[in-house]
Amino acid sequence: MPYEGWLLAIVEDARLIVGPLCGSMAYSQNMPSGSGIFGELDLLKQIRARAGRSVSGRLRLGIGDDCALLRLGAGEELAVTTDLAIDGQHFRLAWHSPESIGHRTLARGLSDLAAMGARPVAAFLSLGLPKSLVQNRGDRWLERFLDGFFALARVHKVPLAGGDLAESPTAVADIVLTGAVRRGKALLRSGARTGDLLYVTGALGGAAAALDRLTAWAEAETRARGAKSGSPRIPRKLQTLLAPHLAPEPRIPEGEWLARRGIATAAIDLSDGLSTDLAHMCEESHVAAEVDAAALPIHTGATLAQALHGGEDYELLFTAPSTARLPPSIGGVPITRIGRIVRRCKDRPMAALITAQGPEPLVPHGWQHFV
Ligand SMILES: [Mg+2]
Repeated sequence: MPYEGWLLAIVEDARLIVGPLCGSMAYSQNMPSGSGIFGELDLLKQIRARAGRSVSGRLRLGIGDDCALLRLGAGEELAVTTDLAIDGQHFRLAWHSPESIGHRTLARGLSDLAAMGARPVAAFLSLGLPKSLVQNRGDRWLERFLDGFFALARVHKVPLAGGDLAESPTAVADIVLTGAVRRGKALLRSGARTGDLLYVTGALGGAAAALDRLTAWAEAETRARGAKSGSPRIPRKLQTLLAPHLAPEPRIPEGEWLARRGIATAAIDLSDGLSTDLAHMCEESHVAAEVDAAALPIHTGATLAQALHGGEDYELLFTAPSTARLPPSIGGVPITRIGRIVRRCKDRPMAALITAQGPEPLVPHGWQHFV
């Protein structure tokens, strides 16, 4: 039975109108009436109240009706991406703070928009949560998840326009992101051409190195204190070191810049690791690539292997013609030339790593997102 009495927020022509409405679309109760914790209006009101603070000219109708309404400008296309995160696969409730899980949930979707050169329009968040997670009010798990989610949403001015809540034996966070991009200007994986140069934003391997540190800390904590209930409290000093993993920064401004300038011929975000994502780009573009090991911007504290194969850096990998002039940085984020696109040949690997000892195959490592 849908909840009634939701607030309706219409953002139109820079005016925010808030009023009462009956609706079932967003954060409706999808369990039998009176079945438990998610029937409590305050949880839903909490999400709604925080979502209502976000505004966007492209979000015409947000939470409160059967659908959200998005409006694109003339000559724009809608980019849509979805990403599912599951406890034990993509995060661990026992290791990750709720703030980090909230941040990472949104960051994954935003990074896909960045890879297309799209500007975020609206986010849709669906959560499946174990009863224990919400019943333990002292832990404030959902509030803290939303703290992390909305902190990043504010940075990129992306409103939460809908979603769903359900009880689930395993914690699940599913994000849908929509974005706008000028017609025909989206950055695709399939546009790389022989002779193009290969670039990457930021530094590589930081998230994998941080995940190793997080694993070591979490295992030591478990040994010292046993399995504790409640969310982990990672020491602040360690949080800074772990930031590349706990709070990755999606490269939205950089992707938009590349799309606006029409410089990049192809792009992909590095969610699965350079070796794997480069293979995706080469497959889609029907080309091969060479990566110069000495040119790789390896994150402080990371190894070459982590830079090549570690996932979840959420940097952008892109190609541009050799005649294109790229700045050393975009919005303060360094741009590094790391190799080149070459013709695909049957007798050589799709991607090669050029080292001082010569070329060697750069084989996709088959990164699994989590453990
Ligand atoms: Mg992606």
